[in-house]
Amino acid sequence: MKSALKNKILFAASECAPFAKVGGLADVIGSLPKALKKIGADVSVILPFYGKIKIEKEKTKVLKEKLSIFFDGEKRFFNLHQSFLENSNVPLILVESEKYFEGDIYLTEDASSEGSEKEAERFFFFSKVAIKTAEILNFSIIHCHDWHTGIIPFLAKKNNLKFKTILTIHNLGYQGIYDSKIANRFLGSEFQNDINCLRIALSGADIITTVSPNYAKEILTPEFGFGLEEKIKKRKKDLFGIINGIDEEQFSPKEDSYIAQKYSEKELDLKKENKKFLQKEYFKKVDLSVPIIGVISRLAEQKGFDLIRDSFERLMKKNIQLIILGKGMKEFEDFFQSKNKEYPGKFFAKIGFDENLAHQIYAGADMFLIPSHFEPCGLGQLIAMKYGTIPIARAVGGLKDTIEHKKTGFLFEKPESQELLNAIKDSLSFYRKEKIWKKIQTEGMKQDFSWQNSAQKYLEIYRDLTRV
Ligand code: ADP
Repeated sequence: MKSALKNKILFAASECAPFAKVGGLADVIGSLPKALKKIGADVSVILPFYGKIKIEKEKTKVLKEKLSIFFDGEKRFFNLHQSFLENSNVPLILVESEKYFEGDIYLTEDASSEGSEKEAERFFFFSKVAIKTAEILNFSIIHCHDWHTGIIPFLAKKNNLKFKTILTIHNLGYQGIYDSKIANRFLGSEFQNDINCLRIALSGADIITTVSPNYAKEILTPEFGFGLEEKIKKRKKDLFGIINGIDEEQFSPKEDSYIAQKYSEKELDLKKENKKFLQKEYFKKVDLSVPIIGVISRLAEQKGFDLIRDSFERLMKKNIQLIILGKGMKEFEDFFQSKNKEYPGKFFAKIGFDENLAHQIYAGADMFLIPSHFEPCGLGQLIAMKYGTIPIARAVGGLKDTIEHKKTGFLFEKPESQELLNAIKDSLSFYRKEKIWKKIQTEGMKQDFSWQNSAQKYLEIYRDLTRV
């Protein structure tokens, strides 16, 4: 019996593109539910109505008013608004609470688990609201994403709540670790030791997934398990690695309204117009023979910016132009910002989040650099390949699953600046062989990075979970 069609699934997450985005988590929450809906799933998304979210009035309506939960020792009120994921009929439930959701998404520079008490308060509150919403609106599964919603599986199991839970790990590096006193105050719980939101989610969730098959293997090892490897090993039979997809409507050089010139793999020469645009706009120097390397990323330790920093002067000796768009750790922001003055015409860094420039880089650069220390899936390389921009990446996590060395990109093994430089050197020698370069570009553009197959896998999990 195809019982999943009767399931009502609620995605609970801290980000959702384009409304509230910091990284790939937002892209997944903004696109996977649409793919699930297309294959028959009844899916909705719940998200905090952060102060910074701007939605036109006519696109939202009040769903429920003056609901309440018991939190931080008192009855706390909230409203639910209903909107839709962009260009879709997937319901987006926005939780309104001025007290808990004013301002931006995260309150620390790196969205890290060493976040403030305010961050714990915010996401504990959100998680408890998601549970209440699931109960009121009869959801049968809550699909939780990362530590921000980690207390949901824990509370569901502890209190024997009637819905099932799935935890998807998008990044094991962030676990949401807080002093027991903080948790006990907000939740009325009796934790004796620090609370680790991801750890308790691993115990409570009925199923655990992560975002690539390779990362599902890596997180069982001390190198990538961040101290949770033994815990995850115990759940190995319930663990699935499902590769992320991208929204191919949003990221398509054929239809992208942010870029100077639309193109497809059949008219690859047109891509040059986007390169010219980047060179004119950001380097003030147009020379199509000079390859542009692009980077778009959270400026986090995970992403290997130490390797870029350590090889920076040597990189600048090469015949390249380098453009970096990113936001995050101050030490990297300051470093790259300071280099802007030193290397005009060769280097450009924009510190900030900029959707427009991100698309221009995907379209205008020749190569896309991702030297991550670890990478659960990585979406940047998928988007880059769709734009015929060739990834140079560390052979780790999802990067290894999605890039084929010298067929769709370039991979290097060790997280060392010399290896990074060698891989770049390798790619530059291929860049000079126009025909081969074009073949690599075309091969990448033809890959299927849609959600179709992966959505099917999630659907099967939902079905198995509620099959009696
Ligand atoms: P992560 O989820 O670890 O941040 P991913 O590669 O999975 O990394 O996803 C990153 C997503 O965020 C991509 O869509 C990328 O284009 C986008 N992104 C990252 N930094 C920026 C930025 N500064 N401005 C615009 N988009 C960004």
